[in-house]
Amino acid sequence: MCQHELNPSHFEENKEEITHSNLQWNQYRESIQGMKFFDPHVHMTSRTTDDYQAMADAGIVALIEPAFWLGQPRTGVASFKDYFSSLVGWERFRSSQFGIKHYCTIGLNSREANNEALAEQVMEVLPLFIYKEGVVGVGEIGFDDQTPAEEKYYRLQLELAKEANLPVQIHTPHRDKKQGTERSMAIALEHGLDPGMVIIDHNNEETVKSVLDQGFWAAFTIYPFTKMGNERMVEVVRQYGPERIMVNSAADWGISDPLAVPKTAALMKMKGISDEAIRLVTYQNALDAFGKSGQIFEEEFGGEIDQSQKFNGNTILRGGQQPRIDKDSLFIS
Ligand SMILES: [Zn+2]
Repeated sequence: MCQHELNPSHFEENKEEITHSNLQWNQYRESIQGMKFFDPHVHMTSRTTDDYQAMADAGIVALIEPAFWLGQPRTGVASFKDYFSSLVGWERFRSSQFGIKHYCTIGLNSREANNEALAEQVMEVLPLFIYKEGVVGVGEIGFDDQTPAEEKYYRLQLELAKEANLPVQIHTPHRDKKQGTERSMAIALEHGLDPGMVIIDHNNEETVKSVLDQGFWAAFTIYPFTKMGNERMVEVVRQYGPERIMVNSAADWGISDPLAVPKTAALMKMKGISDEAIRLVTYQNALDAFGKSGQIFEEEFGGEIDQSQKFNGNTILRGGQQPRIDKDSLFIS
């Protein structure tokens, strides 16, 4: 997340070919038929209802939406409050209307930690949100430019997570990634966090070994053009095995792919990775890691869809549209 880059959402400098984006739905649909997926990092606030529908159709049954930077800086604490409220409220409702269980992590992102006057106010409201239903961690927090202010609020939020006994979702910087990742882990350990409660995100081949060796969870973002392409991801799982590794899309307002998790699963399947390993890295490990919040109940996944429901009087339907109501998987329109 660098101000000087063209598109600073989750992008880093290195270019690579799109792989999973070239895969057509009909090419991989069959290979993952019946599989279910958990995307533990996706910013649905920035996505459309079409995305929700496509994700549900591809087998995504649950997701985690980390609090993040919205593309332009917020100017007051009220904007943060409304955003956090939407993550535990409206967005969770919207997701439920497509049969996807929505969780979130709440935190002050690294970029906006650099506005210290505002950061102080955000720190004051965080405890009002992290204990709410569906909040499965403090995140995404960590380093962007690796400034002193970022370090200060990273440390404060680690303490907050420790006190609340919540997992931590750590965004690692795009520049100086290796060093930034090591620094993030060292600080977490210094604060006495159990590495089993810490998910280090946006890994690559350079960082993964150290993250796993130190007992942390290693998350990988599959993003068109940048970070990990999913062919590289297949090789990482081949080399390190599926333990404590998880795949996410980190789809947001930039060029990204909310179907990155099922597409990666399909590619893994095509490349001979076992079904059990695929299940671990695209579903179970995320559930186990963030499940330590005590907020995730697998039996609640895949509930019935009733689009006639309302949230504070509001619905996802527009005038004249008929709700989709699933009863015993029957499609009633
Ligand atoms: Zn993110």
